[in-house]
Amino acid sequence: MSTIRTLFHGSCCVRGQGAKLRVIPMDENGVLQIGELDTLFNERTKVVSVNHVSNALGVVNPVEEIIAKARKNTSAYIVIDGAQAAPHFTLDVQKLDCDFYVFSGHKMYAPMGTGILYGKQQILESLPPFHGGGEMIATCSFERTTYAGLPFKYEAGTPNVGGNIALGAAIDFIEQVGQENIQQHENALLEYAQRKLLELDYIKVYAEKAVRTGVVSFNLEGVGISSDVGMILDKMGVAVRTGHHCTQPIMSFFNIAGTVRASFAVYNTFEEIDLLVEGVKKAHRMLA
Ligand SMILES: *Cc1c(COP(=O)(O)O)cnc(C)c1O
Repeated sequence: MSTIRTLFHGSCCVRGQGAKLRVIPMDENGVLQIGELDTLFNERTKVVSVNHVSNALGVVNPVEEIIAKARKNTSAYIVIDGAQAAPHFTLDVQKLDCDFYVFSGHKMYAPMGTGILYGKQQILESLPPFHGGGEMIATCSFERTTYAGLPFKYEAGTPNVGGNIALGAAIDFIEQVGQENIQQHENALLEYAQRKLLELDYIKVYAEKAVRTGVVSFNLEGVGISSDVGMILDKMGVAVRTGHHCTQPIMSFFNIAGTVRASFAVYNTFEEIDLLVEGVKKAHRMLA
């Protein structure tokens, strides 16, 4: 498990495992070049890992095709990072046929420090626990320890009870509003934000033409530091994230230091997007 955990937070974090990373290339539109996939797999491929939706660009990756190709070519574990997908559309992990699917509570209206790991039962049973603590052993003596069954084997230590009850409430909330309704609203906001931003001739939207959800990532021509834009927006009460979004390889690909990223959730409104656009105009007047 530790190998998998280490691997999927991205290329920068593989340390001490002797793993070699082979990266699926991306094109100018932020679309993964899955035609290249067959050349990346070999019999030594241990883990195939991809995010379902890019947190930097909002691009929805074709995980169904990636999983099918991986299954055909390797016996590797397939790990999908769904932190940006679970809040925005309905998932069927069994239909996807991935081995693991992970996402965070705090991206879907739940508190920080909560999250979900889905894994195929047989694999979870065969893997060793990745850390130790209370409630995860079946029997213990100085000679021998046996571990508890699923899910306790992976839930070492006193759990975050309050957080997880809140995660359950967040999922109830999403189901109550309806994932389809949320998706429709967010996609309308995204489409509106992109159209309004692109009316300004100094805006570059990244992955503009790709299928996306959840975020619009952009820069202002003549403004090199995205956090300066973020500061002006913040003063107007508009919260965006700026910088490299933990995806420096993507920033290098576009030859930029960072982007301004506006993200959309069920509670956002079209008026708020108008305010964002006002703020962007102000930032351009002040900074460009
Ligand atoms: C936020 C995020 C993570 C990290 O999740 P945390 O629960 O915040 O550690 C990983 N992958 C993606 C795609 C994310 O958006």
